Amino acid sequence: MEPPEPKDYIFAQEQRETATINRLFAFGGPALGRWFEQGLRWSMPYVWLGLRIPHERLLKGYNRPPNKFLGDVDVLGASLEASSPEEYQRYHAEAEELFVGAAPGRLEEAVINAMILEGKTKWPPDLSYIAATEVKAAYYSADADLKAAGNKDNGRGQARELCKMGFDRVALARFVVTEPVHVPGHHAWVVAGARSSEAMDEYLEEPKGIRVKDDDPYGTALISEGSVPGKLEHHAGSSTGKWLKNPPENPYKEQATDLRKVIEANLLEVMSKYPVPRSAPVLILACSDNKCGHLYVTGMYLDFMTGESPLPSCPNCGKPQR
Ligand SMILES: [Zn+2]
Repeated sequence: MEPPEPKDYIFAQEQRETATINRLFAFGGPALGRWFEQGLRWSMPYVWLGLRIPHERLLKGYNRPPNKFLGDVDVLGASLEASSPEEYQRYHAEAEELFVGAAPGRLEEAVINAMILEGKTKWPPDLSYIAATEVKAAYYSADADLKAAGNKDNGRGQARELCKMGFDRVALARFVVTEPVHVPGHHAWVVAGARSSEAMDEYLEEPKGIRVKDDDPYGTALISEGSVPGKLEHHAGSSTGKWLKNPPENPYKEQATDLRKVIEANLLEVMSKYPVPRSAPVLILACSDNKCGHLYVTGMYLDFMTGESPLPSCPNCGKPQR
């Protein structure tokens, strides 16, 4: 396999937010796990995630007020669960003796992997908890300049709108990806780590900065992905991040009960058409053709080199996903 070129990295993509979502989230997010487990209870990669789903498809059947809910939900989802607690216990008991002395968490991981592979995932999932994230993606250039961060309020309106759709928790995730640089005499990972920290510092500095208010109904995170030459972001790199505000329980959830019911019904309708998934993450994708308007469920089929397609096309009309 050819090593990736600079143009293959997220920073160089015209659709930088789409690339961030398609690579980092669809890939199951080893680099994201820490932040999203804590903030949204997403145990990556054992999650179902809807990627870039238009509001209007989630709210199908709901009489939308004009000029509202016209965007996309960048990422929504929840952790997968075992088919039943008893089944989990049975798998756990069977595997226990194989993992005597193993590092903490290894047994649980093996049990979850085995259960998913053998179709012992609860499907359709329980939709009583769903979290959503608005994704923004800036980048840090080779000459140490923060680009495309937008203003301090970037994404705040969209995150608030997600709260009004009735998700349990909402996050505004502002990413900064770095352009990989080669510094002779220095190890690539050390350089990536240092640049990732620099990018964060610059992002948080005035006058750029990120606005966060105590009474925000959503959480705000800044996540910096330091990339290394020779491997794309979802294979290698140095990830730093922090919650500038932890996601609270959504204070708008109760008043959005009607919308939330519609969202659950629409998701359930899509999910019910598909068999129990045998891999994770489970992805829900939206057809790029608004006339078709299809949502569909798929596993992860990323090209390991570029991280781009082939995410499977729409089974209804054959067009690619959004
Ligand atoms: Zn379609």
